[in-house]
Amino acid sequence: MSGFDCDLFVIGGGSGGVRAARMAAQLGARVVLAEAAALGGTCVNVGCIPKKLYSHAAEYADHFRDAAGFGWDLGPARLDWQRLKQNRAQEIARLNDVYDQLLRGAGVELLRGWATLCDGHTVQVALADGARHWRARHILVAAGGTPSVPHFPGREHVLTSDQMFDLEPFPRRLVVVGGGYIACEFASIFQGLGAQVTQLYRGEQILRGFDDEVRAFLAQELVKHGLDLRLRTDVAAVERRPTGLALTLSSGESIEADAVLYATGRIPNVAGLGLEAAGLRLSPHGAIVVDERYRTAVPSILAVGDVTARLQLTPVALAEAMVVVDQLYGSGERTMGYELVPTSIFTHPTVGTVGLTEEQARARHGAVRVFRTDFRALRHTLSGNPERTLMKLVVDAASDRVVGLHMVGAEAGEIVQGFAVALQAGATKAVFDRTIGIHPTAAEEFVTLREPVLGSGEEAVARATDASA
Ligand SMILES: Cc1cc2nc3c(=O)[nH]c(=O)nc-3n(C[C@H](O)[C@H](O)[C@H](O)COP(=O)(O)OP(=O)(O)OC[C@H]3O[C@@H](n4cnc5c(N)ncnc54)[C@H](O)[C@@H]3O)c2cc1C
Repeated sequence: MSGFDCDLFVIGGGSGGVRAARMAAQLGARVVLAEAAALGGTCVNVGCIPKKLYSHAAEYADHFRDAAGFGWDLGPARLDWQRLKQNRAQEIARLNDVYDQLLRGAGVELLRGWATLCDGHTVQVALADGARHWRARHILVAAGGTPSVPHFPGREHVLTSDQMFDLEPFPRRLVVVGGGYIACEFASIFQGLGAQVTQLYRGEQILRGFDDEVRAFLAQELVKHGLDLRLRTDVAAVERRPTGLALTLSSGESIEADAVLYATGRIPNVAGLGLEAAGLRLSPHGAIVVDERYRTAVPSILAVGDVTARLQLTPVALAEAMVVVDQLYGSGERTMGYELVPTSIFTHPTVGTVGLTEEQARARHGAVRVFRTDFRALRHTLSGNPERTLMKLVVDAASDRVVGLHMVGAEAGEIVQGFAVALQAGATKAVFDRTIGIHPTAAEEFVTLREPVLGSGEEAVARATDASA
């Protein structure tokens, strides 16, 4: 290790950084990790975990309403927002400690301070007692991302997702701006918790990039739950008035709210990292450019996770970190595929999806068969809740492989995770047909869909056949 203070210096103690540091140390590498904020990064502190906890809290609103049809008489429900926040903060603090112990237990040296790259092998960390330098054989940048708010008059009055978890007081009237999954989740969660929520999105439909039918179906369900969803609508200005925040919309209309959340995008966390000094290259969107092995333009520096802005999800950052560790200290055979990454959106109802959307499948495979159903879940025959469930399979007509699987409904994420294994294994529709269902569940519909949708799959098959005749 001549001339180096450590084998691997990791910048960022979030999903990707912690995984890489821990695994590398367990393989015998001498690892140092610098984290400027709370351990666990976005996911643990202001992302997946607190969001899912609040999503659970919001679910209760539906459960209380649904209970009457099952014979339960309950008194009026009231949310104690302070108690929810306190309990969440306590659980997150526990997780911060778990991360600390995991790192120290693996032998990682933990530094609490901001890290800056000085060159390809040197990192400076601003510690409480002054700045110190470390020389490392390799440096891994896992600095994550941060919310970005566009420039418009009144920008200083709006919030980002980072501030939503500790909001004080609870917003009676909330406006959410954005159409991505984070915007939809917060809109749905705060709606469930009792706020009157208006979601504004300038595009034609929420959730760009997801299956078109899923987008339209979810939008419909969110509106049924009471969300005031306004598409093709943007904000021109926000102004503070004695009665609240006044938003002037692009249409000229105006609405008032107690809080405004901007969830319009995230940018890689590269400001103040010293990228220029180290000679790293950035994409036009400000992400660190890496190759398929996560190597940057400087051979000794690697980068994973949101700072590279590929697929911004925790399990993706973890898997990328594992590839890096395997490459530096293992067999070097591990690879990462981005094709079949399953995801869930924790709205009410939830969305679960893996593989290609119908639109992507048609563009890639030409002829596809689409199987779909939408129905009222058994629970809601008694609850009286009008919520419906959508399930959809997209099959490549030539190979019979299921190339996309989508669901909007209760526990969609839990269900789709299992089916993602089947898609990863290359399951065909015939394999789905041979699989016995679990009755009575919603999930069994995925293995009992028999007839393709007429006018979509069939039509595409006919078109493709005509073209090749
Ligand atoms: C509201 C929200 C909800 C989400 N929900 C989900 C979900 O349900 N499922 C899912 O899979 N993903 C979800 N995500 C995405 C997920 O959180 C990220 O993809 C994941 O955290 C990325 O991990 P990372 O290691 O790249 O970065 P991060 O987890 O962001 O970690 C980066 C860390 O680096 C530190 N850091 C940055 N620069 C420096 C520096 N110079 N010196 C020292 N420390 C530094 C930061 O403080 C931070 O702790 C969500 C994100 C948000 C914002």
